[in-house]
Amino acid sequence: MKVFFSCFYLPLFVLSIYVSLCGQHVYAQSASFDYYTKEEKKALTKYFYNNYTLQKKNSGRYSSRRIDLAEAYRLKYEWLVSQIEHDEFVKNKQIAETIATTYAHLKANYPAGAWAKKILISKSMVPNAYCTGEGTIILNLGILERLHSVSELAFVLAHEAAHNILDHVNENINRHYDKDLSNKKKDRMHESSHSADRLLTTYQSIIYEDFHHSVKLEEQADSLGLQIIKKSNFQVKAYQQVLSMLDSSDYPVYKVKPNIKECFNFPAYPFQEKWLKKSATIFDEERKSVFIFEKDSLKTHPNCFQRIAYLNTLSSYVNDSQRENQSLDHITKLITENAISITQKSNDYGRGLFLALQAIEKTPNDTYSKLQLSQLLVNIYEAKKDHSLGKYIKPSYEYPKLMEDIYAFLTNIRLSELGKLSFHYINNENNFDPKIEDFYVVLWKMSTYVNDKQVMQEVRKAYTQNFPKGKYKTTFITD
Ligand SMILES: [Zn+2]
Repeated sequence: MKVFFSCFYLPLFVLSIYVSLCGQHVYAQSASFDYYTKEEKKALTKYFYNNYTLQKKNSGRYSSRRIDLAEAYRLKYEWLVSQIEHDEFVKNKQIAETIATTYAHLKANYPAGAWAKKILISKSMVPNAYCTGEGTIILNLGILERLHSVSELAFVLAHEAAHNILDHVNENINRHYDKDLSNKKKDRMHESSHSADRLLTTYQSIIYEDFHHSVKLEEQADSLGLQIIKKSNFQVKAYQQVLSMLDSSDYPVYKVKPNIKECFNFPAYPFQEKWLKKSATIFDEERKSVFIFEKDSLKTHPNCFQRIAYLNTLSSYVNDSQRENQSLDHITKLITENAISITQKSNDYGRGLFLALQAIEKTPNDTYSKLQLSQLLVNIYEAKKDHSLGKYIKPSYEYPKLMEDIYAFLTNIRLSELGKLSFHYINNENNFDPKIEDFYVVLWKMSTYVNDKQVMQEVRKAYTQNFPKGKYKTTFITD
């Protein structure tokens, strides 16, 4: 049923809102992620720059190919800077503390070797972690979301720490230049472009071209990682869960294809089947790897099953019963709850829509997800209106099948239809929560887009009445 019927019904509705506002505020948003401030970005860039110059300086010992090595390090540095500039790294106190404590415990019990100095969290939802070879470990939110216990986290950290201790990334880079480079490869190196993708592809091709060699390094990192874990108090066999999880990580955490029709079907504006008609959409793209540093990452070509078998041989006598196994469910929950807003901030509206629909299906009364979906609909509408939606839809490399309805829907629906559908979704008492200010803004915006002056006025009036000191007061007045 609509929230704002018409002028005649409004006084009653507003009164009822006013009364209900006197009650308890039921809406509580969970802790969220922070992005790096300008100063922090500057400091992080400086940190990577210092690492880069140090690596460049040290490459002197391989004098014959020093220039090439410097080039590889430069590519890596530029790629890391582009990640900083694009807000790829996020911060969360709770997660950072858990990681720092776990890492410190591992290191304290196995102090030998060059441990990575910094651990960063990437907002990428791809389940992956990697070591950049100059003292930094990067953990994606996608892997943190799937770790069940602190022992699983310890395995991931120990494995990446082992890559750093064994200097694997640099070994790979050097190995690359040991070979007689063909001109083609040299050309590839010197193709200069500031595109982050290009930087990454070039860099990847330099360091991971030798499959068999990488398999060997992966075994070494698994083996040293296990030695590190054995010295600690964490469960040694947590690798079994982590590697099994990575093996199935081609699927999202909840393997359900969201039902778009069910969410967007209204008596006054029924869902149209043609919106889901499959055709080649503008968002179809050949599946390519997004596993950054794929061949050095946790999920690597010796398949996870083989790696488990190998690690089993190294830990057959281990008894984990007295070892630490603290749950990380609170972190999983925190990431899941923030996933939709992270995708919005990453300009990935397709995945945002997918996650929002999924969240609402899972918890139908979750007001927060409904608000996020409403905000997303406004963003999608605005992008479609500007003919720039393509910029905000990223192909899904991990689970394209589950995303196909989303792509079809976003491609097929016309702007005017999307406006009406969004308006009916937000202007609906099942979705609109009068106690939350933000709902008024999204409904007001949507009513301006569908040019429903009556609802515009009603929303504005109800807002100023219910939130006389509201944070959006000026939004309504100035626009
Ligand atoms: Zn690895």
